[in-house]
Amino acid sequence: MKQKKIPQQPFLQRVRNDFAAVLRCEDKALQCKARALIPVRDLEIAAERSMRSLQKAVKSGQNKESDVDIQELVLLELLFWFKNSFFSWVDSPECSKCNGPTKFVGHRIIPDNGKQSYRNEVYVCELCQAQTLFPRYSDPEKLLETRRGRCGEWANCFMLMCRSLGWDTRCVVDETDHLWTEVYSGIRGRWLHCDPCENVCDAPLMYEAGWGKQLSYVMAYSRDEVQDVTWRYSSQHDRVLERRTACSEAELLATMMELRTARQRCLSAARRTHLTRRLLGELVEFLTPRQPTDNERKHYLQIRTTSSQFTVLLSQSLEFTVSRTTDLQRQFTVLELGSLQLRSTALELRSLQLRSTALELRPSDADADADAHSSRTPAGLLALAFSLTE
Ligand SMILES: [Zn+2]
Repeated sequence: MKQKKIPQQPFLQRVRNDFAAVLRCEDKALQCKARALIPVRDLEIAAERSMRSLQKAVKSGQNKESDVDIQELVLLELLFWFKNSFFSWVDSPECSKCNGPTKFVGHRIIPDNGKQSYRNEVYVCELCQAQTLFPRYSDPEKLLETRRGRCGEWANCFMLMCRSLGWDTRCVVDETDHLWTEVYSGIRGRWLHCDPCENVCDAPLMYEAGWGKQLSYVMAYSRDEVQDVTWRYSSQHDRVLERRTACSEAELLATMMELRTARQRCLSAARRTHLTRRLLGELVEFLTPRQPTDNERKHYLQIRTTSSQFTVLLSQSLEFTVSRTTDLQRQFTVLELGSLQLRSTALELRSLQLRSTALELRPSDADADADAHSSRTPAGLLALAFSLTE
């Protein structure tokens, strides 16, 4: 007998849909197709060149950090290539008849041969009045052909590219209307924020501190997990909590747990343990808001409007310039990683220690009753940590 469905909050329904949608990037044939489009060898050569510059900087004492992974350098090259050579941004398309400027007039849904239907934006030419359609494809296979769109298309296609290289990747959806990705760095033991539209790596506070975004929910989706990653992207957790009104924190947590459990059911016990350990490290990271670096605070408003900036994040507190022989793009930004020390300390903890740390941090039951806030995040995160370790 069919169970009667409980009506879902629209936000929670979107969480479900987005978690289902990332599985498209797991199609092996599609990954092969994507990988064939990436100039992998060129990216590797460029990454090796950066590695040599870094090693030189370490030798000459300009940079103390020697802990750099070639995979991260290839990731930086991939971001650079994706933005500057592969994908293009479309605000409003040129007129298909006369290439004139167009303006948006509405939407039209077109069913795609009974398969996935997609939304078309309709534009009218300001010169000749002709109509131009701008299809908003959500299938990354289609995006490998069209290679254009806005942040949704960019993140979707970039995620496929990263998956095709075998990297653990998340699609990150910000409820205030932006999308990007995260790639897991084995050497750092944490997720790296990657915004393909901006060619920026590891500057998660740039949206709040640089663009002035009022974040509420930032959700991350991968093959194995759905995770609320809002806390990585904000240093004002209290204010974010006030804006989270789409559902209760308990409902969100329950939805994430249900989806995670269902998705991980077919994984090996070893893989599940690995994911749990990794998640616990991440939850601890989320408990302490980080302060934005100067770069996160200032730089990014400019970066939004220029396509020629390249952000290199290689390690904490390094200040050196990577020289690069690309003809057009010559501007580089080197970021600092503020709280790396705290994060890596958190990650070194074994899960038992982590659990006892979490226990120490848990507000007493009396406190939780007295204050509705304390039963929300970060206590909500702790509740998740407990359920994972029990
Ligand atoms: Zn026209």
